[in-house]
Amino acid sequence: MTRAYNFGAGPAMLPTEVLQQVQAELLDWHDSGMSIVEIGHRTEAFKALITEVETDLRELLVIPENYQVLFITGPARAQFAMIPMNLLGEAATADYLTTGVWSDMAAKEAQRFSAINRVNEAAQLNFKTIPEPNTWRLNANAAYFHYTVNETINGVEFHFIPEMGEVPLVCDMTSSLLSRPVDISRFGIIYAGTQKNLAPAGMTIVIIRDDLLKRKAVHPIPSVYDYRVLHEQHSLYYTPATFVCYVAGLTLKWLKKQGGLAAMAAINQRKAQLLYEYIDSSEFYRNEVAVACRSWMNVPFILSNNELNDEFLQQAKKAGLTALKGHSLVGGMRASLYNAMPEAGVHALIDFMKHFAKNYG
Ligand SMILES: *Cc1c(COP(=O)(O)O)cnc(C)c1O
Repeated sequence: MTRAYNFGAGPAMLPTEVLQQVQAELLDWHDSGMSIVEIGHRTEAFKALITEVETDLRELLVIPENYQVLFITGPARAQFAMIPMNLLGEAATADYLTTGVWSDMAAKEAQRFSAINRVNEAAQLNFKTIPEPNTWRLNANAAYFHYTVNETINGVEFHFIPEMGEVPLVCDMTSSLLSRPVDISRFGIIYAGTQKNLAPAGMTIVIIRDDLLKRKAVHPIPSVYDYRVLHEQHSLYYTPATFVCYVAGLTLKWLKKQGGLAAMAAINQRKAQLLYEYIDSSEFYRNEVAVACRSWMNVPFILSNNELNDEFLQQAKKAGLTALKGHSLVGGMRASLYNAMPEAGVHALIDFMKHFAKNYG
């Protein structure tokens, strides 16, 4: 068996140990005589599983008691609608900061529900930096402030938490949750699709502060999209994505074994630094994101000659380095360095890039 170093942005690489455990116990989970995918979500066994997933998540992220965790079936993008549906309330407006493709999409979806306020001029940014907070045009009556901590496509990441006073921070952490410690108490809502850094696709984790669960929606919303209903039913209102919950649980145990999020942060920072240092030292490759907001998780880079892109990808694949093609909106390459990417994978990538530059530069 050879496993490639998979640099795809998502669904993304998972730790081999986690997949091996899935494989080993797929037919008979915990002596039940059944597979985890065949077990009812209302059984004691599954309730114990989902409770343990929440406990481990709370422990790793140090989630305060006045925050609730929801396991919501579906894509992260569903939150782009669920957030305005659930949170706009009487204020009927919210602030949106745009630093890349995902935050722009979140704003566009929210605009379908209300006249939200875009705090910056997205079109002029070209998504290579985060505009200075003192230039954001904030609305004092905003129901919340939405931003995307790590722009998976553009490789732009916040290395600070915006200061918003009383206005709750709502943050899309899909591509960076669990990559380092985070002060949850600074946020109103954090959400993250599972397929980038935790588990297979199919589920979104929402961490929500108690007072926001109590906000009254102004319009009726479908029960399956209502945070209050999902919370009251402990994420078992409908059949949850049981397999995704299970794999998420295994990944959380793996993270604990690695030493938790402080240990992951050190590794992730080191991996990203290695790659940026090489790119910056090279004449052949370039990363155009402002240094202060470069992503640890997704490193986009371009070759000095775009016509070599296909050759680069083909040869990389032969060398066991897969899914390096950049998003079509940005072009070039992108190396995603989530938790499951070992440092050896980054070294292998840099060695390959050096070799390629020498042959084609
Ligand atoms: C991948 C991604 C999404 C979209 O995830 P889906 O589950 O496909 O909706 C949203 N936000 C960010 C930051 C992402 O990386």
